[in-house]
Amino acid sequence: MTQRSPEIQQADPEVFEILEAEDQRQHTTVRLIASENYTSKAVMEATGSRLTNKYSEGYPGKRYYQGQENTDRIERLACERAKSLFGAEHVNIQPYSGSPANLAVFYAMLEPGDKVLGMGLPFGGHLTHGWKVSFSGRFYDAHAYAVDPTTEQIDYDAVARQAREVRPKMLICGASAYPRTIDFQRFAEIAREVDAVLLADIAHIAGLVAAGVHPSPIDVADVVTTTTHKTLRGPRGGMIMCKAEHAKAIDRAVFPGLQGGPHMNAVAAAAVAFGEANTDDFKAYAQQVVDNARALAEGLLTHGLRLVTGGTDNHLVLLDLTPRELGGRAAATALEKAGVVVNSNSIPFDKRKPFDPSGIRIGTAAVTTRGMDQGAMGQIAGFIGRALDNIDDDTALSAIRADVEAFCADYPIP
Ligand SMILES: *Cc1c(COP(=O)(O)O)cnc(C)c1O
Repeated sequence: MTQRSPEIQQADPEVFEILEAEDQRQHTTVRLIASENYTSKAVMEATGSRLTNKYSEGYPGKRYYQGQENTDRIERLACERAKSLFGAEHVNIQPYSGSPANLAVFYAMLEPGDKVLGMGLPFGGHLTHGWKVSFSGRFYDAHAYAVDPTTEQIDYDAVARQAREVRPKMLICGASAYPRTIDFQRFAEIAREVDAVLLADIAHIAGLVAAGVHPSPIDVADVVTTTTHKTLRGPRGGMIMCKAEHAKAIDRAVFPGLQGGPHMNAVAAAAVAFGEANTDDFKAYAQQVVDNARALAEGLLTHGLRLVTGGTDNHLVLLDLTPRELGGRAAATALEKAGVVVNSNSIPFDKRKPFDPSGIRIGTAAVTTRGMDQGAMGQIAGFIGRALDNIDDDTALSAIRADVEAFCADYPIP
């Protein structure tokens, strides 16, 4: 477990106690939230560095304040490392997170009211891909594509037909809750046919893309956005990669269009994470993430559970609790009592409300960082199966929790 310096304990015992409790929680539970991970100590150290004290509005060599010799070096290093990791022509590492990165792309590539076509939220898309409660659905003429009701996968011919009808100025692909490979090449063909800009949002799968265990959109999409903190295992942050022709528009949209000073501590931590991701160890990690998701899916199927699309190609599985006549929220609450932390999630064509949907989303990025393998996934599937069989039995859930804690003790967290 992390060794915290005694300084904060003396300066602020109240916050210290909360931080210790969170360390404990992260150590003693099975964290299956698909967007979460454990960063290395090196990444955490950079995040907690004195770069947090520095204002650096602008870009390397073109800043508005003095004192930038080190911030310029760290931002250039982060961008160079990202370029070599993903093969991108241009990188902007300043977005505060994934949502602001997408906002910047809208700002750069579109005028308010322009048409966009993205995957609907209930089918696995993200809020910022045109959903009505988000800026992207409010200030743009947003249209959504679904998945095929039978396969529960993207029907590329149907997306193409819809694109011909809608004629979006920007087509968006990428998802937050889609367990299958995304065919970026096919999306690029559709975008080209209707003369749309293609935005590929790889927030969830960036680590898999970097490691080559999921196809990359870099050569086929006009713009690629990502977070740095999901499978990529870096600090909280966002990043935009694009063709050189869009570099100026993207950079201007991020600053001064939407943001002020970048968080240079996060930029430094991203540089560390990109260095880590450009290693054989990380490639093995990403492959293990995918192998683990497959093993977990098989384990869950063995326990008689239903999976959306029947399985997975990436780091996540989406459980459909409809056959169990269970709500996702009650299931997630019971699982948490058992020490297994997940989120409830809508499934395609969900008959329940978004706040209490029919699904559970499960990802393997965090547990794989702890060194868990396929055998461990079998055990986790067992914990989930037992908890879902006993969601109203607090005694049974406590017993599972004790087993989960004993299991977790063998897998230290960074
Ligand atoms: C997580 C996610 C985002 C947003 O990231 P935040 O850092 O939470 O703002 C954007 N797009 C997709 C597809 C995501 O999964």
